[in-house]
Amino acid sequence: MSFESLGLAPALLRALAEQGYAEPTPIQAGAIPVVLEGHDLLAAAQTGTGKTAAFALPLLQRMASTEAGGKRRPRALILTPTRELAAQIHDNLRDYGKHLRISSAAIYGGVSMGPQVQTLRRGVDIVIATPGRLVDHMQQRTIDLSGVEVLVLDEADRMLDMGFLPSLKRVISALPKQRQTLLFSATFAPEIKALAMQFMHAPQEVSV
Ligand code: AMP
Repeated sequence: MSFESLGLAPALLRALAEQGYAEPTPIQAGAIPVVLEGHDLLAAAQTGTGKTAAFALPLLQRMASTEAGGKRRPRALILTPTRELAAQIHDNLRDYGKHLRISSAAIYGGVSMGPQVQTLRRGVDIVIATPGRLVDHMQQRTIDLSGVEVLVLDEADRMLDMGFLPSLKRVISALPKQRQTLLFSATFAPEIKALAMQFMHAPQEVSV
């Protein structure tokens, strides 16, 4: 199995070679084709399996291959439980997308809102956010989520454990109904299945 055979664009393949990634991990091999086909995805994968690239690569490819059209507002939203994870996903997106012209911003709590507001105002393609801080921006109307085409719920089980369900529901209800939704979780506990039932459309399941 190679990254080439998964159908990834040359700009991404070049970045992966520069990262020293020789071949896809099992979650990447399972998830990337499903996401590129535009399906919703329910993926069971722990940290360390390469799950970030499993959603980041097809997401970047989609952003690169379709026109944004009009005003620059976020087209993809990645929700993750902690600021460390948000920063790490942001770093990975920059590494994988280094040969593409796609901008991303990490939006998390514990730091002042000002610089985040400035970044959002300048316009970004991908927002990586923790749920609480994102809700703060929604309340202050400093983020426009009306252009979101892809939603990623990263470490969904941990977000629920941390009490983010009300924030998640609030964010998801503000997104366009017509979108692609990708959910990653270490386990498919009943609450995760319930979330998927409520907010996803015919998701394909991949577990490693
Ligand atoms: P993650 O599970 O997304 O936190 O990734 C765990 C680690 O594996 C990170 O340091 C990634 O940079 C690395 N990684 C992800 N995919 C691959 C791959 N296909 N080959 C080698 N390393 C990878």
